Amino acid sequence: MLPVFFCLFFCGCNVREVNRTDTGMGTVLHIRLYGQGDCDGVSGEILELVREMESEEISWRDENSVIGRLNNGHQDAEVPDLLYESLVTCKKLSEDSKGAFDITVGKLSGLWNIDSYSGGRTDMDFPLPTAGQIQEAMLNCGYQKLILGEKNVLLEGGIRLDLGAIGKGMALDRIQTLLEEQHDGVSGGVISLGGSILTWGTKQGELPWQIGIVDPSDTTSYVGTLSLSGAWCVSTSGDYERYVEVDGVRYHHILDPRTGYPANSGVRSVTVLSKSGLLSDALSTACFVLGIEDGMKLAEKYNAEILFVDERGELHLSEGMKPYFCLWNEKE
Ligand code: AMP
Ligand code: MG
Repeated sequence: MLPVFFCLFFCGCNVREVNRTDTGMGTVLHIRLYGQGDCDGVSGEILELVREMESEEISWRDENSVIGRLNNGHQDAEVPDLLYESLVTCKKLSEDSKGAFDITVGKLSGLWNIDSYSGGRTDMDFPLPTAGQIQEAMLNCGYQKLILGEKNVLLEGGIRLDLGAIGKGMALDRIQTLLEEQHDGVSGGVISLGGSILTWGTKQGELPWQIGIVDPSDTTSYVGTLSLSGAWCVSTSGDYERYVEVDGVRYHHILDPRTGYPANSGVRSVTVLSKSGLLSDALSTACFVLGIEDGMKLAEKYNAEILFVDERGELHLSEGMKPYFCLWNEKE
């Protein structure tokens, strides 16, 4: 557990800057808020929102959450409207990506269990699943078996939901709503939850927000920055986030549901820019699995902008991403 870090700065004209670092949804939550009002109170509300959303709705490890109850066969579990809408969007995205994106991968991701490894490990004792185990888990996956009825959700054939690819983005959407509904002097901020970031409002002086995009081959550095004004969501999926290495082979946490193995589409990271947190998070995972050509098409279909870093370290940007992007070594 990271120590809670909390500080408060005054940056002139009574505009305050509040920074808070904590944990939520199994990752690091950074909150930076600017404003003349109760920024520290709002940062506490954001933390509470993330924690509540995790434990009450989306955690697939907590059997009392809505998803936990569905996974454990409780077909009567009441699904809140916002969560239901997100499941509808996910199923559509599964169809549009021809199964590359699929939140019913729970049995498969549970078998690989790479999510327990944050950062990377070179662990010779990591129990690699056998081909037979993978085949068996794949039989219990498939978005076609996620039945979305009139406000009730049915999981057929032993499938288990895993919202790891979208939970952080969903949280950013709700944080944005919370900020918009707060009228007590929070004028801007940046909230990051793992690889998903929300920019909102303005900083003092109206400067755009600068969001660094991690270099997959040196995660202490960046390939470039996105310069964003106002409300945006940026999500990155990368093979450096959670992985194990066995005999020199990297097994990361983004699975290709069509093969049962970690996706191998020639990219190391995918960053998606969208007004929607859910879409930026879901699309970054989907396009990581699809690779550059099909990923570009999928992002376009959802009006999202995209940036790939391929295995050779080369960058591939959608046309609409280019105006926001600046190479790291071209910064003054
Ligand atoms: P992200 O880091 O947002 O790309 O999400 C990766 C997480 O989503 C993994 O840790 C799994 O929990 C889950 N996941 C892995 N592969 C897929 C996939 N192909 N479609 C949907 N969710 C996935
Ligand atoms: Mg994602």
